[in-house]
Amino acid sequence: MSVRERAGLPTARRLVVKVGSSSISGANAERIGTLVDALAAAHGRGTEVVLVSSGAIATGLPFLQLDARPSDLATQQAAAAVGQNVLIYRYQNSLRRYDIVAGQVLLTAGDLENPVHRSNAQRAMERLLGLRILPIVNENDTVATHEIRFGDNDRLAAMVAQLVEADALVLLSDIECLYTRPPQEPGAEPIRQIGFGESLAGFEFGSVGIAGVGTGGAATKVSAARLAAAAGVGVLVTSSELVAEALSGADIGTWFEPRSAAAEHAEAVTEPSLLGRMSS
Ligand code: GLU
Repeated sequence: MSVRERAGLPTARRLVVKVGSSSISGANAERIGTLVDALAAAHGRGTEVVLVSSGAIATGLPFLQLDARPSDLATQQAAAAVGQNVLIYRYQNSLRRYDIVAGQVLLTAGDLENPVHRSNAQRAMERLLGLRILPIVNENDTVATHEIRFGDNDRLAAMVAQLVEADALVLLSDIECLYTRPPQEPGAEPIRQIGFGESLAGFEFGSVGIAGVGTGGAATKVSAARLAAAAGVGVLVTSSELVAEALSGADIGTWFEPRSAAAEHAEAVTEPSLLGRMSS
């Protein structure tokens, strides 16, 4: 049952949590511990948790003697290949404190659009969750580069939330909530709730990652959140530092109300699937 409001997050049956590169790499690498504490608390309450984590490229940089994100795609992919296993090792090391086992899942948007790959991925995710394993998903950067270029896994997280029929998606970033315009600009007002289908005309969401190591800005969060909300998944956008509060249902962040189950059902009879529409 989809969570209709943020206060319902603590009792969610299944949650997808997405964290961006800047929150868990470089000087913030130790924040993995705080994130894991919050995920373990949700897991302990009986919620099935899927983590979508970026940060492979950012984590790989020092191993390639790079101090900034390279501009060419091939070196970004190389950094991701090196960084991904270090990242998973760090998560597993932290999860061990709670006796939780992680499972690495590398996916592409194409996998989720191909019916055979999609059903294979769905079956594997169901089994992982049934075994009380915490799947940690990233884009398979060696063969797919959409999220490297356009969004630091925000869109992938929305697609995963739809794949596993999550009750809600939590998109963690470096701001407490979304604003009507870039927060450093005068006149920026916090947005607490976005109703399903509500017009966002007049709002200006920035497209630049704030800390410079990821690629997702507010604009990619909004478009990912609307994608998930259209699939009936409620979405909370908030800061990674507030993850424990978010998963406890605190009144923080920006909540995207999901499309209602009744509306989904009515449209399913007349329209092709969301994924069908996305790939066209
Ligand atoms: N999959 C990439 C990573 O984990 C995407 C994020 C990015 O653009 O930095 O690093």
